[in-house]
Amino acid sequence: MKYAIGVDIGGTKIRSALINDSGKVIKKYKTYITSDRSRDAILSKIIHSIKLHMNSDVIGIGIGVPAFVNMKHDKIYTTNISVLQGFNLKKLIKSKFKIPVFIDNDANCFTLAESKFGVAKNYKTILGLTLGTGVGGGIIINGDLFHGKDGFAGELGHICIDKNGYLCNCGNRGCLEMYVSGTAIETRALRHITIRDIPTKLTENNHDVKRIHAYAKKGDKLAKLILDDTAKYLGIGLTSLNNVFNPDLIVLGGSVSKIYPYLRNRVNKTILSFSISPKRKPNIKVSKLKYSGAIGAAYLVFKNEY
Ligand SMILES: [Zn+2]
Repeated sequence: MKYAIGVDIGGTKIRSALINDSGKVIKKYKTYITSDRSRDAILSKIIHSIKLHMNSDVIGIGIGVPAFVNMKHDKIYTTNISVLQGFNLKKLIKSKFKIPVFIDNDANCFTLAESKFGVAKNYKTILGLTLGTGVGGGIIINGDLFHGKDGFAGELGHICIDKNGYLCNCGNRGCLEMYVSGTAIETRALRHITIRDIPTKLTENNHDVKRIHAYAKKGDKLAKLILDDTAKYLGIGLTSLNNVFNPDLIVLGGSVSKIYPYLRNRVNKTILSFSISPKRKPNIKVSKLKYSGAIGAAYLVFKNEY
């Protein structure tokens, strides 16, 4: 049995795990990077989260980052952790631990984990969409990650669904991320709560996605509207992706995917009304894997091993 360490670096937390080559999590660890966000503090937490799992059977380290990864130079480009902008994290970790290190975008790692050990197992062409603080994406074609020319492919959260829409962190307007991420859903709710134009029990201090979902199920007018709009936007995004890729499966992950059963009917209606593909409705599943980012990161090691 072979082992690798997978590290999933998020915008606010780091998850790491010792994984075997069957994708089983042997040991796991989570730490937050909310207080001290200096480069040194973040790097020392990453190194610590690897050291905890290190043993002589570990054949490599895989790292998922919330960033563009330039596959030619291994440098990472991110607005999520600005102190790591342009940094070669792979080189540093390799020099510390003296074993092979692989690095990729976090949503690519998620999609890879799902394709090897999760609901997307046995499918060939897979799109992964992580609906969390932002919206990440990964593309798997014929069983392997598609990186494009420089390694930046798969930014599915930044397809434009409204050219006059909200300004996105990436600098463009109207990206899918600005409508279906957890942050976007909560911001849209807060806008209505503040101007009090639609009756609701949601408040300025209580309008997280979980609460919006709970209130929508009870019939709260604003909560229902927010989630109806979310489903409509998600449906539009998924339609575009289906038209371009005609994938075997689209797998959804991240905190917002937990409310997908509520959104499903409206998403499907939107897809059916906008799709031009002869196979109009894509196959969509919600991730069930825990620590999928770390598992996928560790799999970067195994897939380079065989
Ligand atoms: Zn964007």
